[in-house]
Amino acid sequence: MSQADLAASNPFRRRLRRKDVTFKTNVRGANAQGKDNNAGNTDFALNDDYLWISYDFSIPLAWITHVGDMGPGFVVSWHNPIEDVEEAAAFCVRTFFGYNRKRRDELVRRVREAAERARNRPQPAVAAAAAAIPRCQVCGVTAPHQCDFEWMFSVGHLFFSKPDRRLLCPKHARWRARLVLASNLITANLGFGFFVSPIFCIGNVQIARKAGALGRVEAALWITLGFFPYALIAWMLGWVVWYVVHF
Ligand SMILES: [Zn+2]
Repeated sequence: MSQADLAASNPFRRRLRRKDVTFKTNVRGANAQGKDNNAGNTDFALNDDYLWISYDFSIPLAWITHVGDMGPGFVVSWHNPIEDVEEAAAFCVRTFFGYNRKRRDELVRRVREAAERARNRPQPAVAAAAAAIPRCQVCGVTAPHQCDFEWMFSVGHLFFSKPDRRLLCPKHARWRARLVLASNLITANLGFGFFVSPIFCIGNVQIARKAGALGRVEAALWITLGFFPYALIAWMLGWVVWYVVHF
């Protein structure tokens, strides 16, 4: 298999290209009540084989099990055969003050019809191959782990996070984990996001541990580094107390 084929062997990570899609819009992420979760806009697109719920998160249409209303929004559920779990994501369409249910109904119908058509066709080769024998998307080794690392950016009062789903063997998961953890150490702590960045750090370390990517010592080291913002706050508070007591 060539390098390009390997990189493309993750069905959750088809690249969203405008020329390849038959429908494309933006929706907003929703919580369990189907209401705007304030995570911002995300791409929502379809072609004959895939649904994109973000520009780099694709779901084979043949894996979709349910599309329906949820509160003012809607939910898409699918069976993930790689991990053998049911997964779901919720979205909504906003108007200035409320929710656009008519547009929501149209999106539900579109995804339902596309999934229906896809079930009557052979699965895309990448999805069929990944469901049968999942492989590391970098080196092609079988039995990879699904790694859902989370990138985090925070500048001033702005805060974004971005999931990063990859199929990786322990060796490649290790380098991916190091990249995400090191990057987050800097980008997650430039704004008020530093209040939550240690939680993201722990989440990423747990995923890496589950994938057999980090040893105990390295995991502890990353968590220690991840808690640096809290240590800084504690040190500053301690200093303020010391100052108040002594002057
Ligand atoms: Zn690998």
